[in-house]
Amino acid sequence: MQKSTDSISHLPGSSRRTFLKSTSVSVAGAALLPLLFQVPLTAAHHAGTKPMGIALVGLGNYAMKQLAPALQQTKNCKLAGLVSGTPEKKEKYGKQYSISDENIYSYETFDQIADNKDIDIVYVVLPNSMHKEYVIRASKAGKHVISEKPLGINAAECEDMIRVCKENGVSLNVGYRLHFDPNHQEIIRMAKEKPFGDVTYVHSEFSFPIGDPTQWRLRKALAGGGAVYDIGVYCIQAARYATGEEPIAITAQEYKTDFDKFAEVDETVTFQLEFPSGVISNSTTSYNARANRLFVSYRNRGTALIEPAYSYGGIKGSVNGKLMGYEPVNQQAKHMDAVSKSILEGTDSTVSGQEGLLDMKVVDALYKSLASGGARTEIG
Ligand code: NDP
Repeated sequence: MQKSTDSISHLPGSSRRTFLKSTSVSVAGAALLPLLFQVPLTAAHHAGTKPMGIALVGLGNYAMKQLAPALQQTKNCKLAGLVSGTPEKKEKYGKQYSISDENIYSYETFDQIADNKDIDIVYVVLPNSMHKEYVIRASKAGKHVISEKPLGINAAECEDMIRVCKENGVSLNVGYRLHFDPNHQEIIRMAKEKPFGDVTYVHSEFSFPIGDPTQWRLRKALAGGGAVYDIGVYCIQAARYATGEEPIAITAQEYKTDFDKFAEVDETVTFQLEFPSGVISNSTTSYNARANRLFVSYRNRGTALIEPAYSYGGIKGSVNGKLMGYEPVNQQAKHMDAVSKSILEGTDSTVSGQEGLLDMKVVDALYKSLASGGARTEIG
């Protein structure tokens, strides 16, 4: 689906929009243009074109400690714009990354990004409940979008984002960086190629003790929920790609030790997913523990373990106790390069909005299960 709309994305920034407006063709119609002209849009088409310009929206920890530095190592994209509500950050990071004033926006002036031809992709790195608004505004400005996880605060929000991006002919992607780590790629390969047969069981845990009680991650209105929204989504993602299946039902349990700090959001949640083949996964996510692992058991005497599994670096995978031994990678640089490449080449993104939607369907069902006292709840 994204493939056809992305086929026109070789027209960067505003020129692409002007093109669509001036020719009065629908997005679907525009996608047919390469066919009409008998010109396949391949990578060669973009040889010699400049890297895609990315604007970061929300200059917090992840944007400025991980993404901006990673963008100094990318080949297919570069840091081209900044969007922030904090004047000091605009000043500081604008200077640090040599971003001209015309490419620096506030949330109020954000929509003017539509006229900026340096910016092809908007990367939304805001608190979770703000993702939808900025994804939609970016897509209406004619920009391709990457949103941080979780894509939205429920599946309905994700569906809206996917629909609006499609209507505007732009690509929607999620910040799922682990798809670009070779250890996780090996787990995905093992689900497909089955060197040890079918997957029989997945165990996935991601937890850390959260600090500052005043932070937005503990406010439901901004975070959507607690550990589940922030780090539990990694366990859901991992269970899905480790099995190569979509879960059909979930059973969830919640535990709380600090009722003040976690008055609005979940502290610790355990959950079990059932997959169509009968395989189950078991996960724990908590803001009050330390755990960071993915374990997969295969039918024919095979096991895989990644620990730590979900960090930015130091990922260590092993199969039957033998280290996978991959060189470390910059996950963020690879992620943004891969998204840019998929846009440039008009190919499907491995981290499309659909991935975010499927995870949020699981999250919706998880909270239904909790609300019903832990009943088995179908995902759909
Ligand atoms: P931070 O709190 O560090 O940064 C969020 C930024 O959003 C703020 O610095 C601020 O930037 C802006 N903002 C705008 N409105 C608000 C508001 N009402 N409250 C707080 N901040 C606001 O968060 P993170 O960078 O840790 O997380 C941002 C997003 O990235 C989240 O969705 C999170 O899930 C995701 N994330 C993903 C990771 C990954 O590995 N993929 C890792 C960490 C986070 P400004 O001052 O510039 O306006």
